[in-house]
Amino acid sequence: MTRQALTKLTEDERIFREAVANFAETEIAPLVMEMDENQKLDQSVIDKCFQMGLMGIEVPEQFGGSGSSFMNAILAIEELASVDPSLSVFVDVQNTLVNNAIVRWGDDAIQEKYLPKLASEWVGAYALSESSSGSDAFALKTRAEDGGDHWVLNGSKLWITNGAEADVFVLFATVDPDKGYKGITAFMIERDFEGFSVGKKEDKLGIRASSTVELLLDDCKVPKDNVLGEVGKGYKVAIETLNEGRIGIGAQMLGLARGAFDAAMEYMQERKQFGKPIADFQGMQFQYAQLATEIEATRLLVYNAARLKDAGEPFLKEAAMAKLRSSQVAERVASKCVEFHGGVGFTKEFPAEKFYRDAKIGSIYEGTSNMQKQTIAKILRG
Ligand SMILES: Cc1cc2nc3c(=O)[nH]c(=O)nc-3n(C[C@H](O)[C@H](O)[C@H](O)COP(=O)(O)OP(=O)(O)OC[C@H]3O[C@@H](n4cnc5c(N)ncnc54)[C@H](O)[C@@H]3O)c2cc1C
Repeated sequence: MTRQALTKLTEDERIFREAVANFAETEIAPLVMEMDENQKLDQSVIDKCFQMGLMGIEVPEQFGGSGSSFMNAILAIEELASVDPSLSVFVDVQNTLVNNAIVRWGDDAIQEKYLPKLASEWVGAYALSESSSGSDAFALKTRAEDGGDHWVLNGSKLWITNGAEADVFVLFATVDPDKGYKGITAFMIERDFEGFSVGKKEDKLGIRASSTVELLLDDCKVPKDNVLGEVGKGYKVAIETLNEGRIGIGAQMLGLARGAFDAAMEYMQERKQFGKPIADFQGMQFQYAQLATEIEATRLLVYNAARLKDAGEPFLKEAAMAKLRSSQVAERVASKCVEFHGGVGFTKEFPAEKFYRDAKIGSIYEGTSNMQKQTIAKILRG
């Protein structure tokens, strides 16, 4: 048996990764702090993501996408997060949740209608959570009623990433609350549908340039053809897309940890105390060696889950482990990297404090750490 490192990339993956890294370094890095302060992604950055094919990585070429692998989506999310975790989640939601749900569950008409737009100009968002249903997502209350030739949706959604920019939403509602999860149905909602509006935007601790909004549905009229998958099967759409989405968040947290670490390493080799670079002190070496090991272990978890997914193998446990571990490592690495900078690490002069703020979300969205543990435990118990 030949041995191959899990982290070894194919030539295509390596070239793709380098292109994204180059984009992140030259075009995003100069805007990161400004976008964080403005709580808004720069339109030029969004446009460039479309031009580079980053908004339709797995969308088949017949629909104008890149027709590439899940692994490449993961590499893009990681690379972007090493410079800006906000832009990373923007790209992550589009690829791993929205496009993914349509590619997997959309009928021909939905795919032909939405995929070319999502690959070229439309931003997508994924709306499951509500004020009273987060971890218990299928307790959602947004109601869909049969209006004859259309559906009528009433209710609201909370915490919706990309909601400020999105043109289209994969949105979950129940057609019959008495049926529990079996009433849940996924709908394609366009921003200008009658009765649909975007509500308040959250003012957040981290990933501040990523929009997080409330959505309001007031007798929102949705064409019958806009059901994604089957009526009453929305829970499957949600579960299966979120299973994959978790690996995306794992990649985001991995990239964040790496970005924070690389910046700290650079600083530690320049900053001198007691006549030598602080990186020379054994007390520092033992700490950064430990963190580098944790980042490498996280990379193995994330890439393993992504490779399993691409190979069509079961990956649920591995995805939950990757998300759980990567968010823990990102928090620890980002926190230590603030310390490694000393006082300046606590200021906005260096990227350390932003990585620290951005890291916290990893243990919350797309299933909190407790929910990941619940999934892992359930699988372990068969
Ligand atoms: C910035 C941001 C972006 C988001 N983006 C999106 C998005 O695009 N689309 C979307 O649909 N949602 C999104 N969310 C929502 C996110 O997925 C939820 O916030 C998350 O699932 C947790 O739900 P909750 O906030 O209701 O917390 P709760 O479910 O109330 O959890 C609170 C605490 O209780 C714990 N807990 C709850 N139940 C259990 C249990 N059974 N066992 C053990 N512990 C438990 C949780 O682990 C957590 O620590 C986003 C949230 C944020 C903050």
